[in-house]
Amino acid sequence: MAQLILKPGKERSVMRRHPWIFAGSVATLTGRARGGDTVDVVSERGVVLGRAAFSPASQIRARMWSFDAETPIDHAFFKRTVAAAVARRTAHPMLAGQDGMRLIHGESDGLPGVIADRYRDTIVLQLTSAGADRWRDAIVAGLLQATGCANIYERSDSEVRTLEGLEPTVGVLAGREPDPDLAIEEHGVLLGVDAVSGHKTGFYLDQRENRRLTRDLARDRSVLNCFCYTGGFSLQALAGGAREVLSIDSSAHALASAQRNVERNPQLDAARATWWEADVFAALRELRTEGRRFDLIVLDPPKFAPSAAHAQRASRAYKDINLLGFRLLNPGGILMSYSCSGGIGQELFQTILSGAASDAGRDAQIIHRLSAAPDHPIGLAFPEGEYLKGLVCQVV
Ligand code: SAH
Repeated sequence: MAQLILKPGKERSVMRRHPWIFAGSVATLTGRARGGDTVDVVSERGVVLGRAAFSPASQIRARMWSFDAETPIDHAFFKRTVAAAVARRTAHPMLAGQDGMRLIHGESDGLPGVIADRYRDTIVLQLTSAGADRWRDAIVAGLLQATGCANIYERSDSEVRTLEGLEPTVGVLAGREPDPDLAIEEHGVLLGVDAVSGHKTGFYLDQRENRRLTRDLARDRSVLNCFCYTGGFSLQALAGGAREVLSIDSSAHALASAQRNVERNPQLDAARATWWEADVFAALRELRTEGRRFDLIVLDPPKFAPSAAHAQRASRAYKDINLLGFRLLNPGGILMSYSCSGGIGQELFQTILSGAASDAGRDAQIIHRLSAAPDHPIGLAFPEGEYLKGLVCQVV
């Protein structure tokens, strides 16, 4: 097997079980390896630290499969590792009874570049690293065996694949095409999952608990949901007894799916909901000009900063929408604000919100910190994986 020899001192992060080896940490490769091949990772002193998938096109030159020198990386390895991840989800008490959940969460489950989301009888798989791409068949076999699901659909069309030198790949891997009417139940509300053409794997499972909090806070409040996508937060607000819910998104396709979600839930009072196709940055200014005010505002924007390099520009965008959000709140009003930017940490996010509140002239308190759902675990040695953060702030 080829050996990836690290520069002096660069074994330390591997020994702390950080799964990424950056190009700058590599002294040399001995032997031959192509993208996706398994290599031994070796310290400068010759100690084998474990095994990794080699990725010559990427700045992340290798991703660890195992922190053990002896473990064979073969079909049995993937079967075992997939089964262990699925078993952890199945045993989690907060996930009991859910028909939608993330089964495999990449690095945190020891499977870098592998995301598998289950929606009822369908699994949507996303492979984003050269190693994951190489072991597709073994991962699919492991999922079929561990879950009993018959249908697996691949949605490996994420931009990040280009960094690994991989082409976008989508299509049926097992069973049949996803049902266009596929829907999961979330806290008593039916929400559609567009596995074929929705974002990512079709749905934002990581916001499950946070949508529940929106429902719990919504009673008799006027709610504004910005970047509403298919209306998850909006429908939960209706279910919680909101007086009115205004939802904004720039995508007509997303809003059409939101309409479909409204139809799926005849128990909700659709007359209290208004849907507005608009750019949130402009819409918030328009609402301010009109003198509109709300009691609960949700801001769940797309990723403004995919990496630390974009943090500065992204900070300005977060500041802008949160400043406008604070201004639009009635006294006692609540802002639920999120960031899924890998480049913006929890501390920076709080600093941005604090600046936004003070520029808006509002006194605010943090009444809750929000995090990803329990099926989105975060590897301890891998803070970069912590991409969803959120704060709930109440103004005086
Ligand atoms: N809150 C949603 C997920 C939001 S995804 C949920 O819980 O399911 C981000 C959404 O922001 C997408 O639907 C995208 O269409 C929308 N979007 C991106 N930029 C926008 C902009 N400038 N104005 C309005 N919507 C935007």
